[in-house]
Amino acid sequence: MQKETRINWVTTIFLILTPIVGIAGTIWLGISRGIPFPTWLLFLFMMFSTGIGITAGYHRLFSHRAYKASLPVRLFFLLFGGAAFQSSVLEWSSDHRIHHRYVDKEEDPYAITKGFWFAHILWLFKKREYTLQNIPDLREDKWIVWQHEYYLPIPIFMCFFFPGLIASFWGDFAGGVLVAGFLRLSINHHFTFFINSLCHFKGSQPFSDKHTAKDNWFLALFTYGEGYHNFHHEFQADYRNGIRFFDYDPSKWLIKTFALLGLAWDLKQIPDEQIFRKRVQMDEKRLRQKWEKASVPLPKDWESRLENRKRSLLERQAEWTAQKDSQDKNKTKEIESEFRSELKSWKRILSGDISSAFS
Ligand SMILES: [Zn+2]
Ligand SMILES: [Zn+2]
Repeated sequence: MQKETRINWVTTIFLILTPIVGIAGTIWLGISRGIPFPTWLLFLFMMFSTGIGITAGYHRLFSHRAYKASLPVRLFFLLFGGAAFQSSVLEWSSDHRIHHRYVDKEEDPYAITKGFWFAHILWLFKKREYTLQNIPDLREDKWIVWQHEYYLPIPIFMCFFFPGLIASFWGDFAGGVLVAGFLRLSINHHFTFFINSLCHFKGSQPFSDKHTAKDNWFLALFTYGEGYHNFHHEFQADYRNGIRFFDYDPSKWLIKTFALLGLAWDLKQIPDEQIFRKRVQMDEKRLRQKWEKASVPLPKDWESRLENRKRSLLERQAEWTAQKDSQDKNKTKEIESEFRSELKSWKRILSGDISSAFS
């Protein structure tokens, strides 16, 4: 028990001091001599590359193995993800795999069930011991092990000195360190912490309500696309989090770009049919819960009728999936239109038109 309450002073002081230094330093530079425009561009570059180093790198590549990547890409993520100061890939991935396995339970390192602020930042203030038993695959990558062994010098250099050195090209070493280093680090910390707090707190659950993970497009804007967290917890092997082409998921787009350049391959993608089935099952569960409490009179056999509508929709969808690649275009069109009309009436039922479920 005593072990649980021990405070990790180094992390705690670091997480409290870095925003103070970042904000105060930026204000001081701004007032005393102004911050050159290229320093702000560097700030944005560091923001994006370290944030995506965590989401596309630490998270989707290393923790979930959602795709494979060449050495330059892996090194980029080890260096820039490291500059996000969120511990080594080995520790981060070990925690994250435990999070998925035991989500919302006692073992979940950042369980939202222990409170919003616990999931956001307070869990980091506690001293923890890592067994690193659940990441044997990652230990086989010598570069990941190298990053773990030299964990402190790598982020210290990449997070502070690297932007400082780049900014010295236009004579702004201090701006590089304070604005593109400290300020960027603190903002980025909280942007990624949102994934553990807000993405388990506010949003919709189109795929499952068996855990607290939520889909939230607004949060995707700040989390490099990880706002589609309900989908992610259901289909963690998928390299995407936002699955529709217009879903804001820059991590997905970066991975896809790497693939087009031949730098990434084996991108795992859950088949659309499987995602669709999960969604329909969740729709049905919601309807049942709603209708059980409904005040309007329902036919006695509403449960079996609803079940039939769902089955019929999934059958039409399976037929269409099987037919999609067929040469017989007319038949494909016919089956697709049957599926579309079944889907339309399912959506009518969802929108509250109970009578259409019984027509
Ligand atoms: Zn989660
Ligand atoms: Zn994950």
